[in-house]
Amino acid sequence: MIPKQDRRTAIVVPGLLGRMGRLVALAARDDARCALVGATLREDRPEIGGDIGLALEKGPCGRVVHATLEEALEQELPGHMAGTVVVDFTTPGNARAHAQACIAKGAALVVGTTGLLPDDTIALEQASQQIPVLVSANMSVGAHLTARLAALAATTLEGADVEIVELHHKHKKDAPSGTALMMARAVAKARGQKDTFRTARSGDAPRVVDEIGVFGVRGGDVVGEHTVYLFVEGERVELTHRVSDRSIFAKGALRAARWLVGARPGLYTMADVLE
Ligand code: NAD
Repeated sequence: MIPKQDRRTAIVVPGLLGRMGRLVALAARDDARCALVGATLREDRPEIGGDIGLALEKGPCGRVVHATLEEALEQELPGHMAGTVVVDFTTPGNARAHAQACIAKGAALVVGTTGLLPDDTIALEQASQQIPVLVSANMSVGAHLTARLAALAATTLEGADVEIVELHHKHKKDAPSGTALMMARAVAKARGQKDTFRTARSGDAPRVVDEIGVFGVRGGDVVGEHTVYLFVEGERVELTHRVSDRSIFAKGALRAARWLVGARPGLYTMADVLE
């Protein structure tokens, strides 16, 4: 009898025990369309060399935690899997090394890390000439829908003053959030404007015609909230997106990873997946 083909997407997770790394790994473990095949931790962690499942405080899965992405990608994989995708939610500064490891092994790369450095962006653009790379500061479907609705509202409400306010937990490092900037870019693109935004207003700072304001608020444990305000004389529209469970980002990243398998080399965003 011919064995049923395993077309699962092989997922490799750098930074396994980061908040997002852990959620991606657990989501991959629970998704019948994915297989969690590799993971890394920084060199000083005692879990290195042990079973990924045990590091996650779950049952063993027979795959080992490595100290580098190269080693994690070196492991033997069942040849019949659909393809290997590295899903990276770590810290800025890792993109070049991670992209090079993916190129060496022909793996695709999903990057959810925010606050990327200029060198990260250059490295990902260069890598995308050889492998499929998807970068998105927000992997939630609802956030992308909000950006699309904001673009529609900004062209429908002619001349509307657009201001975007985002709320995040007090540990978030970058501001304004990548998602707020993504929404602002969607509005600017729909209106045919340049994507330069006002990110602070203080002292004598009147509103300039057509400017788009993008402002961050930080505190407590807010997972992520974005409101796009569109003001015209006599009325205003508010579009709000709230995340209540950050595993939504992990599920979105796996959706992106499955979409990336078989894609041509190129630089993609979540919008490509949803379209
Ligand atoms: P975190 O600090 O909990 O986790 C980051 C982990 O990466 C840490 O455990 C760190 O040790 C590890 N790490 C860093 N460099 C590494 C390397 N070279 N090798 C192995 N591990 C390495 O942070 P978090 O809350 O998990 O967020 C991670 C990133 O994801 C942040 O940039 C955050 O803003 C972003 N994020 C993006 C989305 C999205 O939808 N795109 C959603 C949530 C968070």
